[in-house]
Amino acid sequence: MLSRILVVTALYATPVAAEPLFPNSVVSNSIDFIRGDDPSAFHCLAYTGVIRAEMPDKRSDVLFVDDVFAYLARFRDGTDVPIWIHPDIGSEAAARDIARPAVEALGKLPTAMRGRLNHVVIHSGNETAFAEDEGRFFVLYSENIKTRLRDNDLEETVFHESVHATLDVPFLRDAAWLAAQAADGAFITEYAARHPAKEDFAESALFAWALLQHPGRLPLSFETRVRTIMPNRLAFFETLLNDGPVFTRTDLRPDC
Ligand SMILES: [Zn+2]
Repeated sequence: MLSRILVVTALYATPVAAEPLFPNSVVSNSIDFIRGDDPSAFHCLAYTGVIRAEMPDKRSDVLFVDDVFAYLARFRDGTDVPIWIHPDIGSEAAARDIARPAVEALGKLPTAMRGRLNHVVIHSGNETAFAEDEGRFFVLYSENIKTRLRDNDLEETVFHESVHATLDVPFLRDAAWLAAQAADGAFITEYAARHPAKEDFAESALFAWALLQHPGRLPLSFETRVRTIMPNRLAFFETLLNDGPVFTRTDLRPDC
């Protein structure tokens, strides 16, 4: 007879505050947390025409833009994510080309995150990505997409911004998260340490995701240090991110 197992999350003591592993999670290291050949739930990209859309841009105060190329990215788990691309990209073909790597990366997110994403904005240009947590969207720039793709950092960028867009509002002030953060008493990156109330969550989430989904992917010395620096955060993300299958596959999606 199976006995009922009660899982008790202990708060581990950290005897000595450990130093952060890297300056930041996404671009300052050579770890490929999410790989090009990891399974993606991306199914197809449907062009839905040109629209007038809210297109926040670091370089401009202009918010509403006409003739935005609009797509619906469909995923095999039943989720859909609208993709809005600024007309400065030049043509519908160019818009589709720049959307493609971004939607492949979106397909590698857990269903729980992708399903909460409202949309993604893509501008032409070379700024770094940013997210709007209340609006549940994030913004990418075309030249930065190409750079991050070349450096094997695009999936990690999309994951980081998707965490901000989908998990910041419900969890940044969550009691279990704050307790885990306080109990660990150390930070995984310098960026997380500088912004404990905002960036620590997204920074820690990427390490947790790699460790939970792909044990052994990080070099052993790094994996050991992650477990030393953030054991309570790991337990927190294990509950949050491993709650059900990563992709709830339906395989019954209409073609685009
Ligand atoms: Zn961030």
